[in-house]
Amino acid sequence: MAKPSKHSAKTGKKKPSAKAAPKIKERVFDGLAAAPGIAIGPAAIWGGADIEVPVYAIAKSKVAAEVGRLDHAVIVAKQQMRALQERARDMPRAAGEEMVFLFDAYLAMLDDSRLVRGAREKISEDRINAEAAVDEQLSSLAERFQAMEDAYIAARLDDIREVATRLIGILSRASDHVIAPPPKGAVLIAGHLSPADMAQVDPESINAVAAALGGTEGHTAIMARALGLPAVMGASGLHEGISSGTCVIVDGFAGRVIVDPLPETIKAYEKRISESRKRTRALERLRHQPATSRDGIDIQLMANVELPMEMEMVRQSGAQGVGLLRSEFMFMNREDIPSEDEQVAVFESIIGGVDGRPVTVRTLDIGGEKASPALLKNLDEAAASALGLRGIRLSLANPETLRTQFRAILRVSGGGNIRILLPMVTTPSEVKRAKKMLYEEAAKLKSAGILLADPLPPVGVMIEVPGAALAADALAQASDFFAIGSNDLTMYTLAVDRANEHVAHLFNTLHPAVLRLIQFTTQAALRARIPVSICGEMAGDARYTELLVGLGLHDLSMTAGNIPNVKKRIRSMDVLTASQRAMQIMEQSDSGRIAMLIDDFNGIG
Ligand code: PEP
Ligand code: MG
Repeated sequence: MAKPSKHSAKTGKKKPSAKAAPKIKERVFDGLAAAPGIAIGPAAIWGGADIEVPVYAIAKSKVAAEVGRLDHAVIVAKQQMRALQERARDMPRAAGEEMVFLFDAYLAMLDDSRLVRGAREKISEDRINAEAAVDEQLSSLAERFQAMEDAYIAARLDDIREVATRLIGILSRASDHVIAPPPKGAVLIAGHLSPADMAQVDPESINAVAAALGGTEGHTAIMARALGLPAVMGASGLHEGISSGTCVIVDGFAGRVIVDPLPETIKAYEKRISESRKRTRALERLRHQPATSRDGIDIQLMANVELPMEMEMVRQSGAQGVGLLRSEFMFMNREDIPSEDEQVAVFESIIGGVDGRPVTVRTLDIGGEKASPALLKNLDEAAASALGLRGIRLSLANPETLRTQFRAILRVSGGGNIRILLPMVTTPSEVKRAKKMLYEEAAKLKSAGILLADPLPPVGVMIEVPGAALAADALAQASDFFAIGSNDLTMYTLAVDRANEHVAHLFNTLHPAVLRLIQFTTQAALRARIPVSICGEMAGDARYTELLVGLGLHDLSMTAGNIPNVKKRIRSMDVLTASQRAMQIMEQSDSGRIAMLIDDFNGIG
C-alpha cells in the first residue's frame, strides 16, 4: 500500500476573518450541566479547521471494505444532518423553514447523488481511500458546474461542498487521522461531539468541553466526567458565530457557557475556581480512609473506566478497583479491530493501574451512539441503533470478535482479579451462548499451556433493559453476578434517548418505574445469592448514595472523580437508617415527592 500523503481539502471552507471583531458584550448560552467544574480559556472549534485529506492507494482486496467505510460515513452524516434539521425546526419561522429545506437537500444528496455514487466508483476504479475519492469527486463536479456559469448551479455546488466536507470530516475522524490538537488550556467548542470524538480529546491539553447538541447521560458526557473535564451539552447555537481564540467560560455546575466574558465576570469565576480547588483538596484527604458507614458497614467504591489514560485519576480517587471497564472505547476511531495482543496490553495496563485489585471487564458494547467503523460497516442505521444489534447482540453476531476478546481477557486473568461482564443482555440464552464460547477458548488456551485464572473468571450480566430486570430471577440462574446499568435502564424504561438534549429533562432516574426495577433486580440477586453492583451514573451522585445503599447495593461503581464525594456521604450515614428511608421512598409513586424526600434525607430541603 502506498504511504499515506496529505493535501488540503478542496472543500473551499471559508476561514474566519483575521480582522479583530469589535468587542461586544458577553454572550451567555444556557445548556445542560454535563460534567462539573469551571474553566476559562480560548475557544478551539472542533472540526473548524481546514480538513487535511489523507490520500493513499488501497489493495484490490480492500475495495469492498473501503466502500463500506464510505457507506458508514454516509449513515453517520445522515444522523448528524437529521439532528441539525431538528434543531433548525426550533429556529424563528422563516429562517427555520429555510434551514429545514436545506437539510432536506443535503439528506437527498446523501441518499443517491453524483457525489456519493461517483466516490464509490472512484474507490473501486482508481483504488483510492474513501476520503480521497470524495474529494476527487467533489473536484470533478466543481469543474463541471463552474463551466456552466449559472447562479443556481453555483449554489448547488456550495451544498455539495458542505456534504463532501462533512463526509471527509467523518471519514478522517473515524480513522487514525486525528484532528490537529487544540492549543493547551483551550475550551473545546463543538456543534456535535460523538463519544468517538471525545475519545480523541487529550485531557492534558484542553480545559473544558461545550457542545450545541447532546444530553447529559450520553457517553460523550460520561467521558467528559471520567476525564475530569467540565462540560456543558445542548447549549443551542453555541458553535455558530464563535471563532477560535475567543475567551470562553464553561460553567459545568450551572450548564452555562459565557462567550467573550466581561472582566468582572472572569474575576467572579476565578474566585469560584479557587474555592472549588480548595473543596477538591479537602476531599482528596479521604483517599486513604475506608468507605465505612457510621454503623460499621463497608461499601465497595469502584471506578468506571473507558481508556487507560484515566488510570491516574482512578489511582488518585482511592477506588478499590475497576467496577466497569467499557472495553468498546478500544474499538472506536479506527478502521480495524484491535488484535488480541493489543487488547491484552490494554487490559494489563488497567490491571497494573489498580495494583491487581478487582477489574470487571465488560465485553464490547458497540451500537447505539457508540460506533466502531470496523464492526458496523455492513450494518445500516436501524440495525446498529440502540434497539438494534447493540452490546451482546452484536458480539454474538460477530463470534470471532467475541472469542478474540475472551481470549485476551483470559490471558490476563491468571495475573489479575478479573470478572467478565456482558452488556445489553435480555435472555439467559445469550449468556449461555457467550459462556460456551468463553469455555471453549479457555480450553484451547489451557491446552496451549497458558496460565489462566482457576477457577475461570465469573461471568455476570448488565441489567440495563427493563425486560432483563423483570426477568432477573431467570438471568440470575445463568450468571455469576449482576451489574445494574441505570443509564440504559432509565433510557429504555422511560423511552428517553439519553444523548438527546430535547428530552434530557425527561431522563429521570428517580422515576418510580426505574427505582422499582433497581429494587427488583437487587432483591433477585440477593435471593439467588449472587453479588450485585450498580455502575450507571446514578452510582456516582452522592445525593443517591443513601437510597442505593438502603436498597441493598453495597458495591457502587462510578466515574473516579465522584468517589471522594460518595465516600464522604457513606462515612456520615447509618446503613440501618438508609434501609428504613429507602423503604419510605419505595412507597412513593411520584418522582417529585421522591426527589423531595431524598433532599430531606440529605439535609438539603
Ligand atoms: C449503563 O447503561 O448504566 C451503563 C453503565 O452502561 P453504559 O453507560 O456504558 O451504557
Ligand atoms: Mg449501558
